[in-house]
Amino acid sequence: MAEAIEAPNDGQGFPRYPIIVMLVDDQSFVAEAIRQQLEGDREINFHYCSNPDQAIPTALEIRPTVILLDLMMPDVDGLALLRYFRANPQIRDVPVIVLSSRGEATVKADAFDAGANDYLIKLPDRIEMVARIRYHSNAYIMKLQRDEAYRALRESQKKLAETNLELLRLVNFDGLTGLANRRHFDESLHIEWKRAARNNLPLSVMMLDIDYFKLYNDTYGHLKGDEVLRKVAAIIQKSAMRPADQASRYGGEEFVVILPETPASGASLLAEEIRQNVEALNIPHQGSDIAPCMTISIGVASVVPTGDAPLTLVNLADAALYQAKEGGRNRVVVSEG
Ligand code: GH3
Ligand code: MG
Ligand code: MG
Repeated sequence: MAEAIEAPNDGQGFPRYPIIVMLVDDQSFVAEAIRQQLEGDREINFHYCSNPDQAIPTALEIRPTVILLDLMMPDVDGLALLRYFRANPQIRDVPVIVLSSRGEATVKADAFDAGANDYLIKLPDRIEMVARIRYHSNAYIMKLQRDEAYRALRESQKKLAETNLELLRLVNFDGLTGLANRRHFDESLHIEWKRAARNNLPLSVMMLDIDYFKLYNDTYGHLKGDEVLRKVAAIIQKSAMRPADQASRYGGEEFVVILPETPASGASLLAEEIRQNVEALNIPHQGSDIAPCMTISIGVASVVPTGDAPLTLVNLADAALYQAKEGGRNRVVVSEG
């Protein structure tokens, strides 16, 4: 890229590159003549490199937008140097105008074969020199700007994709536990309900609620409470391990699990396993009336869906959960509905 420091913005967010000419020629009077030709043009910066051995390092340093290259130099073959330019990834695309004192077709053909963009017999008049320099430089600058625009586009597309992913996560997942949230649950329930109805298969839902959680918060503080929520969520997630099973945080300290293709018997076994695993965490809970440690109550409901009433299943599970609470907590109740 040409020097971004010297390149003010073009108003559309892309750097405006100055025209930078690098002449490689052993004869200083040629350089002097060209310098004079370009002198009046303030937009064109002229650099002279008298030593062809220094051509590549100089080009890498000054980043020319066009190179004027002498073909006949002592010790160095201009065509070979041109091939070196073309082999260098950082200079490869810089336009090269060959300056030659010879006009034979074969010499021209060799120059274009080696990668020259243009061929001028030394020395063209000022008008032609300036016109060619401008033409090739502007083409190169447009290429740089296009590359920059593509790069910026790719970058913003990448950012957009990342933002969308993050948005999707925020919309569908609960930040505290990492489980799906209520919104995602509602969507999944509708999908699974329809799938089960289509295939005439049982669909189960379990509602889980932490026992005396308000008292836990009051005794141990909200942060400890959050920790418990995460631990319980992890146990639920680990237990509902079939690919189709979906655990969500339903609300504050309530969780819900959708169990496709699972009859009441299987769902209640799983619920009992989760209940036991939470009890086995043995999290001290002084405020609890029913146990020295943290426990949960679970309501399970199961149907072979017909019609379009997925919420009835949730209501049945909720009613079973209520019975579990009424019946003394730390237990699983399966809906008879
Ligand atoms: P029960 O055994 O009948 O379920 O009693 P409970 O105290 O667990 O139920 P209740 O619905 O009365 O209280 C729920 C409490 O859950 C209220 C609130 O302090 C707590 N809670 C809800 N969301 C969060 C949360 O995100 N973090 C924490 N730490 N506590 C929460
Ligand atoms: Mg509770
Ligand atoms: Mg509750």
